[in-house]
Amino acid sequence: MSGIYIHIPFCKQACNYCNFHFSTSLKYKEDMLTAIGKEMSMQRGYLENTAVETIYWGGGTPSLLSADELLRLWDQLQLNFPDQALTEVTLEANPDDLNPAFLQALKHTPVNRLSIGIQSFQDQDLKYMNRAHNAQQADYAVKLAQDKGFDNISIDLIYGTPTMSHTQWKDNLQQAVALGVPHISSYALTVEPATALAHAIKKGTTKAPADQESAYQFEQLMDALDEAGYEHYEISNFAQPGRYARHNTNYWKNKPYLGLGPSAHSYNGSSRKWNIANNAVYMRSILQEGRLSFEQEQLSEKDRYNEYIMVSLRTMWGIDLDYIAGAFGNQAQQNLLEAAQRFAEKNWINITADSIKLSRQGRLFADRIASDLFLE
Ligand code: SF4
Repeated sequence: MSGIYIHIPFCKQACNYCNFHFSTSLKYKEDMLTAIGKEMSMQRGYLENTAVETIYWGGGTPSLLSADELLRLWDQLQLNFPDQALTEVTLEANPDDLNPAFLQALKHTPVNRLSIGIQSFQDQDLKYMNRAHNAQQADYAVKLAQDKGFDNISIDLIYGTPTMSHTQWKDNLQQAVALGVPHISSYALTVEPATALAHAIKKGTTKAPADQESAYQFEQLMDALDEAGYEHYEISNFAQPGRYARHNTNYWKNKPYLGLGPSAHSYNGSSRKWNIANNAVYMRSILQEGRLSFEQEQLSEKDRYNEYIMVSLRTMWGIDLDYIAGAFGNQAQQNLLEAAQRFAEKNWINITADSIKLSRQGRLFADRIASDLFLE
């Protein structure tokens, strides 16, 4: 089984914290769709003999496309990747794009899951992040999508914004739970280099997020969603029982995927490649030069080991010790168990006969623990 990710590199306006690849000019949207369609035929052999199980329209903002534009690319997907066993087709959408007409049209496409970029149900946070929607639109978008028959919905929420008190974060979580969405992804606001947020903080015109506030709000997040019956199945992801995001879970379970569009990444088990993160160069190389502009790296055994540790430790399934022994040898398993011992003594991880999993406390230190378990 495999997945396909399609990157639509356009946004209405730039959120100040964002370091994804996108352009706020839609002037070349038509050419971009033609280029992505052509890329499909260039990459048709990448997934070899695996059936496509999930498709994920991400970005950028794929909800800027019309249902007809989505269907046009969809037809080319069918043509180039006929081996499909589809269970999940997700569209990332911003609340301000979800109007009745668009949702109605979307019902006539294969999209069966929406991932809505809510981020907060409160205006002061949305303004701080320079989001294109307001609090009222956030709430309305989810209810409207549910009314139109989309029950498989994920929402994104951001915590740690300096505009949000702990009480307001609790309110955000209560509002999310009240909406009854089966899936919630939640991330701490991070200040990425070269973003508008980083510049504003440097100039002193905006307050920076504080680590201890984010850590506290992460604990509030775990408490509130646990109480509401969500499983904390990945460090930033929570689902009602069994309602995991299949596409992302396949990433975490080391399945192959193909990324289409500028900046999109692909993985086939032994190497990674990533398309150029530049719309003009991406389109020119495909449309005028008949080639794809990308970089590639072959993964060494150490790379594969470290990636497995980093990704699996973040999930509720944890590090599979049998997999480590089978893929990397008994000695690797032994070394890992020895290295992990000091975190078990702090109660940050639980070691059993077949796995290593983060404890609740350890979830606050996931990256640090993973990097300490890496092979040098
Ligand atoms: S809508 Fe998403 S991709 Fe676009 S700028 Fe905002 S966070 Fe980034």
